[in-house]
Amino acid sequence: MFLNGKSAIVTGSTSGIGLAVARALAGAGADVMLNGFGDADAIEEARAGVAALGSGEVLYDAADVGDPAAIAALVARAHDAWGGPDIIVNNAGIQHVCGIADFPPEKWDAIIALNLTGPFHMMRAAIPHMRARGWGRIVSTASAHSLVASPNKSAYVAAKHGLVGLTKTVALETAQQGITANCISPGYVWTPLVERQIPDTMKARGLTRERVIDDVLLAAQPTKEFVTPEQVAALALFLCRDEAKAITGANLSVDGGWTAA
Ligand code: NAD
Repeated sequence: MFLNGKSAIVTGSTSGIGLAVARALAGAGADVMLNGFGDADAIEEARAGVAALGSGEVLYDAADVGDPAAIAALVARAHDAWGGPDIIVNNAGIQHVCGIADFPPEKWDAIIALNLTGPFHMMRAAIPHMRARGWGRIVSTASAHSLVASPNKSAYVAAKHGLVGLTKTVALETAQQGITANCISPGYVWTPLVERQIPDTMKARGLTRERVIDDVLLAAQPTKEFVTPEQVAALALFLCRDEAKAITGANLSVDGGWTAA
């Protein structure tokens, strides 16, 4: 319960990695603001499940992280409810698989807006509150694609590389204020985001579903296993500990050895 009295916003926490991070933070005693899209009943079920893990309050906010005004309102809501936010986890993200010549410009704009500009607005809104309390943790879910590229993922690769640059800069600007800013870069995690890109990868590379899973996804990772959301969440939770205060400006891989290879 080392996060008792601390508050967190986890964007994109209605499924996948974000939900696992929210569960970990709530389990350590934090008040948590869930965010993301989905069926209302499923979201309420997820919210109640997260709340049952800890002693803090768990709320849900439907802010579109591609919309700066919605982000300002999300941070203000968390601040009014609990003070802070002390922890922000920039996790909401989308992907689109398509070769550069056919890549739809509106998909480029949406991916950059959510995966890169959203974290910028989150940090911009939350850091003054963290500075006021002299403590803050910023954790952003980047990707192995923040370090290495794959064909047909131009916007995603560009956004994730940019997120690392943003995080390093913010780490330097907050280094003496009790605040850390880091990225976690997972390899392939079996979530709706990965499932949704399989048909487009089949089309772009002319492969069957099984070959995409074995020869593209699992082939990237020397462990030949998918990373789990809980493995990513364990690192996010560690970064929120006081013992992790010297870790800032880092981009930490949880990728089954992908980027070592
Ligand atoms: P997911 O699709 O399960 O979760 C994405 C979350 O973002 C959902 O809660 C969704 O509702 C939310 N979301 C989507 N658009 C949003 C918007 N406009 N505003 C607010 N929320 C929005 O996917 P995931 O795999 O858990 O992805 C989470 C993060 O992890 C993403 O940033 C993704 O790029 C990153 N990531 C995933 C993998 C992987 O293999 N799954 C690998 C590396 C990095």
